[in-house]
Amino acid sequence: MLGYFTFPVTPFRQNCSVVYDDTSRKAAVIDPGGDLDALLAEVDRRGLQLEQIWLTHAHIDHAGGTAELARRLSLPIVGPHPEDQFWIEGLPQQGAMFGFPPAEAFTPTRWLHDGDTVELAGHTLQVRHCPGHTPGHVVFHSPEMQRAFVGDVLFAGSIGRTDFPRGDHATLIASITQRLWPMGDETVFIPGHGPESSFGRERRTNPYVRGT
Ligand SMILES: [Zn+2]
Ligand SMILES: [Zn+2]
Repeated sequence: MLGYFTFPVTPFRQNCSVVYDDTSRKAAVIDPGGDLDALLAEVDRRGLQLEQIWLTHAHIDHAGGTAELARRLSLPIVGPHPEDQFWIEGLPQQGAMFGFPPAEAFTPTRWLHDGDTVELAGHTLQVRHCPGHTPGHVVFHSPEMQRAFVGDVLFAGSIGRTDFPRGDHATLIASITQRLWPMGDETVFIPGHGPESSFGRERRTNPYVRGT
């Protein structure tokens, strides 16, 4: 069975998540934005073996620890979508923009596209391209767990910012309604910041997407 835990990192309390197979203890980390020593201590404490890095998008609070973590543990970097390359290249400057120490750029081992899948210990997660917050944002959906890791696309009661370069509000709304809602009202999502919710609950109550 797959399990996961969420470990907030960086001053932005970004919900770095670790997905794992509870038999083999093999794990993938989603969005290692920083605080790597604390994150790796928690992974060790749970007896997990990190095998992959999966990225939703290349903002520094999500991707800032990627290069160092990949180098330290020799991990492949999977994602995001190639449209986020300019954000990856800008990671050193994003440090100044967001008040973080500089982060290293990197080259993904594998870029992701809409309809791709990622595999962990024989389990499959679906990849959907959800642009709008950033143009290369992807989300990871586990039908097995009825969970979706959605980064900064959707939050409990809110949606992602679209005032960054190449952000677009209408595109973000289309990503949410056309690519997240079909995952089902019962699906619980883990946003990049703040508490979990379900798609059904957001469709009923989130002022940005209510009734869509
Ligand atoms: Zn972001
Ligand atoms: Zn974020």
